[in-house]
Amino acid sequence: MRALLAFALLALAACATAPEPAPRWSLVVHGGAGVIERANLTPELEAQYRAAMQRALTTGGAILERGGSSLDAVEAVIREMEDDPLFNAGRGAVFTAEGRNELDASIMDGRNRAAGAVAGLTRTRHPISAARAVMERSRHVMLIGEGAEAFARSQRLEEVDPAYFFTERRWQQLEDNLRANSLPIPQRPAGAPQAPRAELVYPDDHQFGTVGVVAFDSAGNIAAGTSTGGTTGKRWSRVGDAPIIGAGTYAQNGVCGVSATGTGEFFIRVGVARDICARMQLNGESAQEAADSVIAEVGAMLNNQGAAGDGGVIVLDGRGGVAWAMNTPGMYRAAQMAGGDPIVQIFADEQ
Ligand code: ASP
Repeated sequence: MRALLAFALLALAACATAPEPAPRWSLVVHGGAGVIERANLTPELEAQYRAAMQRALTTGGAILERGGSSLDAVEAVIREMEDDPLFNAGRGAVFTAEGRNELDASIMDGRNRAAGAVAGLTRTRHPISAARAVMERSRHVMLIGEGAEAFARSQRLEEVDPAYFFTERRWQQLEDNLRANSLPIPQRPAGAPQAPRAELVYPDDHQFGTVGVVAFDSAGNIAAGTSTGGTTGKRWSRVGDAPIIGAGTYAQNGVCGVSATGTGEFFIRVGVARDICARMQLNGESAQEAADSVIAEVGAMLNNQGAAGDGGVIVLDGRGGVAWAMNTPGMYRAAQMAGGDPIVQIFADEQ
């Protein structure tokens, strides 16, 4: 009888401490953060963004559901978002002060912490694929500018005329930004369509709109990737956090995967993505606790002009559990786990 009781107690204790079973796969996506509020997002535009985020889940979920790798899911979803002019990545990227699109991206494989990154691309259609090629087919982690483009070409990645990336929306945002800073407005890029000033129905996300994906696959592998055009009106070959491993992107099996979006200068200084993972790994913080703490730290940090850092992150824990955090009024975001319902949210107060 005593033995039976001991066994029952043991079984009870095991139940009480048994962790939730990990999902077979999970996926979390962001499409940038910013001053995205109900008052400045028309119902049509809101529907377009929600549909795009749902598409991202469908694309990535299909790959993971059939046993595909987290790396393949990350790359495929980001490629699709790079083609979507709604997002500040690939087509639809923001402009530099000189009227160019300079694209940055990075990807990381949580199995072995292999990583690849590119910055300042102007012709490669899918910067995320260039980042993956750097990771898998070069000895390096980060390539920039002309050299990065030459490498992408050597890997037979698709090149496009720079005008391919042009959107009227982003051009108007550039003009507004340059006027506000009393800077000259450059010529419209060669080949860009001549369109009348677009009705600016877009929220104030001109600084943001980066895309990022973190995936956990049925083999337990985590991958993370981020792709961006950077910030409107950037100058002097400025590079933000998106292509910096440990700032905008990080993945480590059994610990975490992170992709960030926001004012890159702050995310670089905090080392956001790696810091979130380190808190989880060394302090035992949950993904949510770590994301909340680090985003609060970004928000409390000032730059040398007195401005505070803003943005957000998406995070997976080592078992595919999802978290996100932001200190902006909104962040386009979505998540799904195997067998679960898709979650698509935009505004910070959505639950
Ligand atoms: N983090 C990006 C950068 O600073 C911008 C963004 O997230 O939209 O380049």
